[in-house]
Amino acid sequence: MALFPQTFLDDLKTQTDIVSVIGDVVPLKKMGAAWKALCPFHQERTPSFTVNRDKGFFKCFGCGAGGDVVKFVELHQKVGFQDAVRYLAQRAGMPVPEASGAPEEREAAAEREAIVKLHEMAAAFYREQLASPAGARARRELESRGLSAATQDVFGYGYAPAAGRDTLSGRFTDQKVPLALQTKSGLVTSRDDGRVVDRFRNRLMIPIARDSGAIVAFGGRALEAGQVPKYLNSPETPVYSKGRTLYGLDVTKGALRKHNYCVLVEGYFDLAQVWQAGIQPVVATCGTALTPAQARLLKRFTSKVVLSFDPDAAGQGAASRSSELLVSEGFQVNVALLPEGSDPDTFIQSTGGRAYVERLTGSRPYLDFLLDRAAAGLDLKRPDHRRTFLEKMLGVAATIPDAADRDQFADRLAHKSGITEGVIRDEIRKAAADKRREPPAVALAVDARVKPAEQGLLWLLMHRPVEGLAAVGQLEAADLEGLVSAPVLRLAATLVEMPADVVPALLRERLSEGERALVERAAAHEASTASAAGCVNALRKLRYQRERAAVQAEIDRWSGADAGADDPLAALWARKQELVRKIEELNEKETGFVH
Ligand SMILES: [Zn+2]
Repeated sequence: MALFPQTFLDDLKTQTDIVSVIGDVVPLKKMGAAWKALCPFHQERTPSFTVNRDKGFFKCFGCGAGGDVVKFVELHQKVGFQDAVRYLAQRAGMPVPEASGAPEEREAAAEREAIVKLHEMAAAFYREQLASPAGARARRELESRGLSAATQDVFGYGYAPAAGRDTLSGRFTDQKVPLALQTKSGLVTSRDDGRVVDRFRNRLMIPIARDSGAIVAFGGRALEAGQVPKYLNSPETPVYSKGRTLYGLDVTKGALRKHNYCVLVEGYFDLAQVWQAGIQPVVATCGTALTPAQARLLKRFTSKVVLSFDPDAAGQGAASRSSELLVSEGFQVNVALLPEGSDPDTFIQSTGGRAYVERLTGSRPYLDFLLDRAAAGLDLKRPDHRRTFLEKMLGVAATIPDAADRDQFADRLAHKSGITEGVIRDEIRKAAADKRREPPAVALAVDARVKPAEQGLLWLLMHRPVEGLAAVGQLEAADLEGLVSAPVLRLAATLVEMPADVVPALLRERLSEGERALVERAAAHEASTASAAGCVNALRKLRYQRERAAVQAEIDRWSGADAGADDPLAALWARKQELVRKIEELNEKETGFVH
């Protein structure tokens, strides 16, 4: 029988919160220092089943069942020791060491465990700092937001001190944590001169955990006016991938399951306010549009989502991309509209939790909301307006994955537009089929796909060719991949030896008609504010982002697989880290060039 190394089992138990594992399947109630419930292993009316989080055991005083978290899974899932360990390891995101496991994989796993431990140390350090005199400003910030001590406790906020005597990196070094590991954790960064500094300085710290409860990253909010960025987040590390994590899920997942819906918000403090207002099933995306990986994670807990946003934001940006993704992933999506310009955080602070609950109660299906939006300003008695309306909505209908849901939407669409249901269903079926056939690149949208940095370079080539050519000379072939303007920039690269003043004319002569039109449109813009170096930076960054996405896709592909001895994950992580580092370097170089 293959046994697991004791160190792995010890780590698994430290990383696993027994209360969270048992609480997923047994409704636990906190009573003093312990949690209690009706025993899942025998029939009883008064709870004699207790869980002790600190000591990591459960015990039933009625039937005598008891043991550690692995024992609980064995008994509850009726599986053997090894399967129970595998289940818990998967839950904690820890790879299971096998006798045949490659040494690099074991090393990578050990490193991931070590990085998670550093995050726990960091969270404790930040909490300690928050309670100290140095944390006064951060405490005031939390108070000014109206967050109670209980709420602050639940979300484990902390304070990262300004540069000074007491630093996290100093703490790590005292504990003999190797420097390389410190920087790999993303909590500490090393400067060019070899000095190491804390990534987070003078910030209110928000720990970000996996759904298992293991802290894997932090968000840090600025405390001074003019401190940028307003929110600084952990970089991608071997334990943290932003697009695969939902903030707050570790705290709220029980409520998600219990109530079978979820309020989806954007920010850390949106979440805290909603939670404090008594709505416990809530998670946050942390300011970006939802990713498919996050949607799948959420689906493990519920398939009903309520979004709350202001009606202006609803039509565009992250909110609308998230809604569309959720619809296409088969979620039931409702929208609770907030007054213009507000988010849950500001709304609850100014109007109160009860008013927010009322908004949620009054939420309506997202698709109905879209129907109303599309119909606004149209006179549906006019055939041409009806046609416009229908065309707008067919695209939406085509993304609904479930045929029955699609038919239901067709009914509403018919009701609203006064076009017969049969006609609409036919159209929707056609649109859905077209959507599957349609190639992803649409020729019409060419200009929309020209990146501002490309636009800037084309403008420079035509108006300030010396600068334009110098910039083009710095680009590498890989920087141009997939760019609409790639043929133009490649041709320009062959002209770098030419006298600059003849270049605009040469380009016009040698380009195809479509390419020339592209250049002329870019050249016709007002004087470009883009700097040549800024454009080169931006294009290089886009390339690293493309490469990072490709590496991530590869990581995703391997993560699910039962990897053999030649598991490439370690190498992929290293490659991704390298790309992330390069992107960060470019971010630091950025000179106000918006792209
Ligand atoms: Zn019992």
